[in-house]
Parts: sequence; structure tokens; C-alpha cells
Amino acid sequence: LVRLRSRLSRSQSTLGKGLLTLLSRDRLDEDTWEEIEDTLLTSDIGVAATQELVDNLRTRVKVLGTRTPDELRGLLREELITLIGPDSDRTVRSTKHEEGPAVVLVVGVNGVGKTTTTGKLARVLVADGRRVVLGAADTFRAAAADQLQTWGERVGAHTVRGPEGGDPASVAFDAVKEGIAEGVDTVLVDTAGRLHTKTGLMDELGKVKRVVEKHGPVDEVLLVLDATTGQNGLVQARVFAEVVDITGIVLTKLDGTAKGGIVVSVQRELGVPVKLIGLGEGADDLAPFEPGAFVDALLG
Ligand code: GDP
Repeated sequence: LVRLRSRLSRSQSTLGKGLLTLLSRDRLDEDTWEEIEDTLLTSDIGVAATQELVDNLRTRVKVLGTRTPDELRGLLREELITLIGPDSDRTVRSTKHEEGPAVVLVVGVNGVGKTTTTGKLARVLVADGRRVVLGAADTFRAAAADQLQTWGERVGAHTVRGPEGGDPASVAFDAVKEGIAEGVDTVLVDTAGRLHTKTGLMDELGKVKRVVEKHGPVDEVLLVLDATTGQNGLVQARVFAEVVDITGIVLTKLDGTAKGGIVVSVQRELGVPVKLIGLGEGADDLAPFEPGAFVDALLG
């Protein structure tokens, strides 16, 4: 929690503290509730969620009558956690099964942190005692395969790569094939993220998934989104969700934005939980997403 707090952008905890300060005013009049709404909206939590949260808070504050700062904090904490969804299954399925290794596809547009996330995830899994093969299926960005291979060498995972500009699906296929042959636990496939045309992406990602499925089921499709891109990120998310069935979201760069409310809006948009968060460029800066800890960090 201490690390989360120090890693989350300072402006995020300013958001939490701002809400608490507003709620602690002697008189909670219409203007104050409007300020609370505005504060929530600027965090990218979304209109519907803001309305829901404010309605619930208003009702509960009324019932409570006089309120101590601790009570208010508890109230806000509970309501935020409820909104984020305390009961969602946020585990990344990475355990080997009868058909072979767990296969995790990592998807998202260029620059969101896909390759970095794949590398960091490999590190977490290897530290947890898993054997991992990496697939560098982002064959269009020349540096991506090198970058992934560097991560692989660092953590002790072999990287399967193909010729530059080659067929991403064929690299993904080979990576899973190698994973099966070596009997590893998890195959992580970094995919290409050119969002030039939706049909292009659809063909490419759809093909990667279909080809990998010749070996067995795909266990996770993790969509990586850059938290600093706000509503644009949501538009991208929608396009990807139309192309493949997303099973989890990785929200990166939460260290660089005040718009942590995006956690709520993206989950609502896709109906899929945020499973991991990126809190920096370093190897240790990928964390499981835990609503309670996240809200505690926000509220300072
Ligand atoms: P890709 O094109 O989606 O594979 O993106 P990369 O993995 O190459 O990442 C793009 C940039 O974002 C790199 O400079 C990363 O170091 C940086 N990055 C990735 N995740 C995070 C994060 O959680 N926080 C910050 N601050 N930077 C990140």
C-alpha cells in the first residue's frame, strides 16, 4: 500500500483528499454536491458512475446525520470500492492445464505499454516459480521484438520471434508450439497494435487468436490501456472488444495521471475487470489491481 501510494500520481491522492474535504463541509448544500460531482467527473470516472456515487453518498449522509471525518472517509471508501467492484475475479489465468501451457495474449495500440507489460508480467510469473515462453508477435515495430527479448533474457524466459514484418499469427503459433514442447506453464504473446484500420486490426488479431487456438484454448486476452489517454483510451477499448473477447484490462501509466477514475469507466464500458496496473517504467512497477488498496491510496 505504501508503494502504491507513493507510485500513484500525487494528483490522484489530491482527488481523494479533495472529495473528503468537500464532504466534510458543515453544510452539504447543492453547490457542494455539484463541486463533488465536478471533482469526480474530472477524474474520468464517467457521468453515470458519478451520478450513482453522488446519489448513494447523499442518501447515506442524510441517514447518518452528523458525521465525523472518519465516518465520512469510511463512507466514501465503501462507495468507491462498491463502484469499482470488490467481487470481480481479477486473477490472471497463467497456470498450465491439460491442453498445455496457459496462453495469454497481450493486445493494445502502439505505445500504451504492451511490450513493457508483457516483460513485467513474465518477471512476476517467473518470480512465482513459473516457466514462461515469450512470443514477439509485434513484428511491425522493429524494436518491439528486441525489447521483449531483453526482458526475456533478464528474467530467464526464451523469446520466440519471427522475421521483421513477418506474420504475427505465425510467431504466436510458434511460441505456443515451443511452450508445449518445453512443457512450460505460461506463454505470453505480445501482439502488434497498429490501429490504422479497424478491419486490418480485426483480421490480424482475429487470426492470431484463431491460429493459437489450433494448439488449445487462449486463457487470457489482456487489453493494455494507457490511463493518461482518458476518453480516447475508451474509444480504442471499444474497438478491441469488438475484435476479440477481452478477459482483463491492464491500465498502465497510473503514475502519470490524475484520471484514476478511468478504472471505473473502462470496466463499465467493457464489462471486464481491471486485473493489473502499471505504476512506472521499472521492472517492479506492475501490480495486481486491488480495489481496497487502490481506494486507500486515493484517500491518502
Ligand atoms: P507498446 O508499443 O504498447 O509495446 O509500448 P511499450 O511497452 O514500448 O511502452 C511505451 C512507453 O511507455 C515506454 O517508454 C515504457 O517504458 C512506458 N511505460 C509502460 N508502462 C508504463 C507505466 O506504467 N508507467 C510509465 N510511466 N510508463 C510506462
